[in-house]
Amino acid sequence: MRLCERCNRLLKSQKSMGAGMGPVCKKKAAEEAAQAEFERNQVTIFEVLYDKEAG
Ligand SMILES: [Zn+2]
Repeated sequence: MRLCERCNRLLKSQKSMGAGMGPVCKKKAAEEAAQAEFERNQVTIFEVLYDKEAG
């Protein structure tokens, strides 16, 4: 018996147990990871532009 890492609900399928979270939470986690990656890249681009203007 395993619980979802995000919402602590009981995981019902073997697949969810393997992932450590339910399908909905897994999707949300993937979206958040993609968003975080996107924002990190955005910050990097702005930092590069700012460095050029400052230099
Ligand atoms: Zn969950």
